[in-house]
Amino acid sequence: MTPGETLAANAAALLGINLSGEQVLQFERLTQLLLAWNERMNLTAITDPEAIAIKHYLDALTLCQLLPRVDGLRLIDVGTGAGFPGLPLAIAFPRLQLTLMDSTAKKLRFIDSAAESLELGNIRSLHARAEDAGRDPDHREAYDIVVARAVARLPVLLEYTLPLCQPGGRVIAMKGATAVKDASAASEAIAALGGKLFAIKEARLPTLDDPRYLVVIDKINPTPLRYPRRAGLPARQPLP
Ligand code: SAM
Repeated sequence: MTPGETLAANAAALLGINLSGEQVLQFERLTQLLLAWNERMNLTAITDPEAIAIKHYLDALTLCQLLPRVDGLRLIDVGTGAGFPGLPLAIAFPRLQLTLMDSTAKKLRFIDSAAESLELGNIRSLHARAEDAGRDPDHREAYDIVVARAVARLPVLLEYTLPLCQPGGRVIAMKGATAVKDASAASEAIAALGGKLFAIKEARLPTLDDPRYLVVIDKINPTPLRYPRRAGLPARQPLP
């Protein structure tokens, strides 16, 4: 089986996602583009196509269990880097409207090029710091779902993500082994930003031993206007 076919089999067996032949080809093309661009700029340390399929694509698709099945949901991927988890979600779920945000412009050039090459009409890239986007009326409380992987420690990440989420929406942080401890330590920050911990779901992937967790926070109240604080402050002085 090709890595794309293995991805399709795993997505169906583990997550109940049925990828079409066209979507499998889009994933295979994305791998080619990622590896070609990676020779010119540092996009990913993972260069084996089978590992890319598991650690980047299948990992992203584990979010599906927490995405409401509603057309046109607005989702923002904060600190998307080379497009993870956003690009795999855009391929697998064409009805999502995705914004892929990062503070590094050159990674967004890869995303724009990949979206054009794969004919993904449901993606826009956004060059911004999360703290600035969170104060911008075009983005503040403008998204149904906010996701992030490998961007910052939880209290910092909460200040990046919760202001972007509309009340009634949901933030999903993709985290590693310390997720449960970190989420309980962040309970005050979650409440201060208008959130409520909904669940922490384990997301195991084939051939990987390290546990992965989805920390799910529902946005139950508007975020007070004092958050997010100015750029850099959430990371320098994380909320208690
Ligand atoms: N989410 C991707 C992944 O899992 O492969 C990229 C992870 S990379 C380690 C972290 C990314 O977050 C970088 O691309 C960085 O530029 C971005 N980032 C960090 N702080 C940010 C902020 N305050 N606003 C926007 N992007 C940020």
